[in-house]
Amino acid sequence: MELFDSHSHYNDEYFEDNREDVIKMVYDSGVTKTVCIGYNVEQSKKAIEIANAHNFIYATCGISPNDSEDFTEEKLKELEEIAKNEKVVAIGEIGLDYYWVKDNKELQKEYFIKQIDIANRLNKPITIHTRDASIDTIEILKSHPVKKGGIFHCCPLNQELIKEGLKLGFYISFSGVITFKNAKPEECIKLVPLDKLLIETDSPYLSPEPFRGRKNDPSKVRYVAMKIAEIQGISLEEVARLTYKNAMDVYEID
Ligand SMILES: [Zn+2]
Repeated sequence: MELFDSHSHYNDEYFEDNREDVIKMVYDSGVTKTVCIGYNVEQSKKAIEIANAHNFIYATCGISPNDSEDFTEEKLKELEEIAKNEKVVAIGEIGLDYYWVKDNKELQKEYFIKQIDIANRLNKPITIHTRDASIDTIEILKSHPVKKGGIFHCCPLNQELIKEGLKLGFYISFSGVITFKNAKPEECIKLVPLDKLLIETDSPYLSPEPFRGRKNDPSKVRYVAMKIAEIQGISLEEVARLTYKNAMDVYEID
């Protein structure tokens, strides 16, 4: 069985001391593909560097709403240049976060839109971070369509958001949050057609149960798949196969 972790951060400094060991351990555990996600220009460069050194790792480039120190025209230009690298499979993570940062909503929207424009110029999908900002996120996606579509990463367990996202053709990616004891993910997971479903770790964050609170790595994406298998009433192998294919499709990896 092979698994595809659609969203991880091998570039994070948490992996600084043992990155190569972790990458090998994860690959040997059966997670044979992952995308290393950028969240500012520096970390996007690092994601590309890691992807270039490993066949089975891909990268994204983006400035997240929580990295607003990179919200400048210069940084955007640099981002667009580095995103032309052939291992870069999407623009992201980009989006809106009104949970952590509330005082710059207009600026967040402006840079979300500017990065959608980059994705459209480079003909790549996007990966979206959205927190406490569902209505504005959907409104922007409607008024600024993304040619290649993309992914709601670590999708909030919000039925309206999922329905609207699916209507716009987006994939829905679930993280370890769906394994948390108080999560109640059943209805949300059942809303997502099996050909639009993705799994991710968002490691080193959001360790699934039974590892909650400890550092996460992509090998634990298996626990996210297990939860989905249980809720959908299909086998773990089937979840692995479907989510692997969906990730290959949305990121256009062949
Ligand atoms: Zn992330």
